[in-house]
Amino acid sequence: MTTKLDIVQIRQDFPILSQTVHGKPLVYFDNAATSQKPLQVINALTDYYTGYNSNVHRGVHFLADKATTAFEESREAARRFINAASLEEVVITKGTTEGINLVASSYGRKFIKEGDEIIISTLEHHANIVPWQMLCEQTGAKLRIIPINEQGELLMDEYEKMLNPRTKFVSVVYVSNALGTINPVKEMIKMARKVGALVLIDGAQAVSHLDTDVQDLDCDFFVFSAHKVYGTTGIGILYGKKEILESMPPFLGGGEMIKEVSFEKTTYNSLPYKFEAGTPNIADVVALKYAIGYVEKLGKANIAQHEHELLTYATEKMQEIPKLTIIGTAKEKVGVISFVAEGVHHFDLGMMLDANGIAVRTGTHCTMPLMSRFGISGTARASFAVYNTKEEVDIFVRELAKAIQMMS
Ligand code: PMP
Repeated sequence: MTTKLDIVQIRQDFPILSQTVHGKPLVYFDNAATSQKPLQVINALTDYYTGYNSNVHRGVHFLADKATTAFEESREAARRFINAASLEEVVITKGTTEGINLVASSYGRKFIKEGDEIIISTLEHHANIVPWQMLCEQTGAKLRIIPINEQGELLMDEYEKMLNPRTKFVSVVYVSNALGTINPVKEMIKMARKVGALVLIDGAQAVSHLDTDVQDLDCDFFVFSAHKVYGTTGIGILYGKKEILESMPPFLGGGEMIKEVSFEKTTYNSLPYKFEAGTPNIADVVALKYAIGYVEKLGKANIAQHEHELLTYATEKMQEIPKLTIIGTAKEKVGVISFVAEGVHHFDLGMMLDANGIAVRTGTHCTMPLMSRFGISGTARASFAVYNTKEEVDIFVRELAKAIQMMS
């Protein structure tokens, strides 16, 4: 089956793609780090700054009202995007990292105690490791790690064995940024429920590829960043179940998150504002509605199908390249391919590809423990988005094969 999308047309929405780099047409395969932005999103930023730049929520004048309406429309778009039950459950953050830190800090410091256990996995990004380590240091709780197999899939029977009445929290990645593995998070949440643990899902790499329904998943928290789903950098969403968010203390203190302040006592604002201290990144939040609208217009299923075709095509071609090994061969994967080449450092591979206009990521992908699990110092990683093409895969595979042959 071929894709229903008109990729040539879609590429017109992303002017950045039609440039040359080092004299070669740009092939942008670093989408897991950040996706490119369509004109609809870029124009939303310009419209905001040229038409109605103003602070939100506190002003009575025309511009403040317009900015506030646009800001809150993005919250509604995000609610719809992940199917949260209410707007009170949709907190605007700086991104995935801040969302996880907010939960670990606010929920964690109130409810996690010495001897409690928190489960994460070997596949986690540092953003879903370090906040929990910090919490464990502060509380005396214990961090437990779900192991993986050689394909980069979680060992579910090990996870099951780990769950016990001391397990208070499970925080796992939906889709691995380094390997592309899709984790069976719905099943994992059900299993955690049996011991009464809460679950946070790191959806940073999931929302651009998979349909996300937080009510169907029944997760307690869900976090993602706008910039990986055709939105801009510096903003993201934390979803939390209302009654749990209500029970948590504020994360940052300041303007907006308060109801009344006196030197004797301060009372806090209602949800979601209790967790939104200070002036937010208004323009970028406003633009989020357009990023979500863009994905909705194309259809997640169509995007996923196109990216899956690229993944299958690229994987087959790459398997024919001598001395190349793909790291991460899970049955359920998104369009992310990590690889190493015998005798060639991943950094040199990245440089050689760059010289040919091809952008891939090299290094540890903020997953150092995962790299250690495979006994490697890092990988090169190609990751696809809706605007990528088979022709680009052909260029990439050709230049990659040449680079490995030359350097190994
Ligand atoms: N988790 C995962 C799985 C990611 O891929 C990333 C971004 N690479 C993050 C967390 C952190 O996201 P951000 O830097 O946007 O906060």
